[in-house]
Amino acid sequence: MNRRLKSFLQKGNIYHPLQTTYRSARTFLENIYHRLTYRRYKGSGYTCNFCGAQYTRFIPEYPGPDIAGAIERNAVIAGYGENVYCPGCGSKNRERLIKAVIEKYIPFTNSKTLHFSPEKNLYSWLRTQAPVITADTAPRFYTNIDPRIRQADATRLPFEENSFDLVIANHILEHIPDDAKAMRGIHRVLTATGVAILQVPYSLTLPTTIEEPGIDDPQLQAALFGQCDHVRIYALADYLHRLKTAGFRVQTLTPDTLAEFHPHAIQQNESVFLCYKH
Ligand SMILES: [Zn+2]
Repeated sequence: MNRRLKSFLQKGNIYHPLQTTYRSARTFLENIYHRLTYRRYKGSGYTCNFCGAQYTRFIPEYPGPDIAGAIERNAVIAGYGENVYCPGCGSKNRERLIKAVIEKYIPFTNSKTLHFSPEKNLYSWLRTQAPVITADTAPRFYTNIDPRIRQADATRLPFEENSFDLVIANHILEHIPDDAKAMRGIHRVLTATGVAILQVPYSLTLPTTIEEPGIDDPQLQAALFGQCDHVRIYALADYLHRLKTAGFRVQTLTPDTLAEFHPHAIQQNESVFLCYKH
């Protein structure tokens, strides 16, 4: 969107409501369209672990020309490819992966949960299992998912120490200039036995993380980091090092370990990082 128009709408306090309405309407229409056009792929193959729908293929998503260079050049695990969205409910591969991991690896009855920038399907399921607080720096983008979402910056979390048994930040830290501070903040609000699931896009080939924390140039960010609002691409070893420096004990669930979830059309080469307070 044109920056001047965006600024005008923001001053009038109608930018976020317009965005939210537009996104909801678009998602609603897309879901209908996909349910109709994917009817011919109904059948055993992949099963959505949110809605139970079965299709021989899910909806693909490929990086656009403005970001493909950064993603391909750096071999970034970023969620693109075949079988990304469920044609039945619209859930994304990264939501299905987190649900499968929680169900198998995390004791999750009545766990006080903090869910950053909540994804619709994952949040809808979480809240049937446990008390969930959602948070984002721009909460009005998410009021259609959770009207009570809190305004919160991960580097200055407005929560007491030891508040949450589970924290989910699914592709959040790559947006935050001071990611070390955000990691320490998440560590602080976890309970002693708590776990944080901190997923990020990461490179399989970069020897070190590439980043420009002060950057404010969406076009350049797309070209360098693979999304217009990302400030870095993590190198895997460096990402793990940063988590450990923030105080976490990290358990990495490797793609081999996660292979049992392939029937849910997850991204097959992604690892999951379970970050324990102790
Ligand atoms: Zn589904």
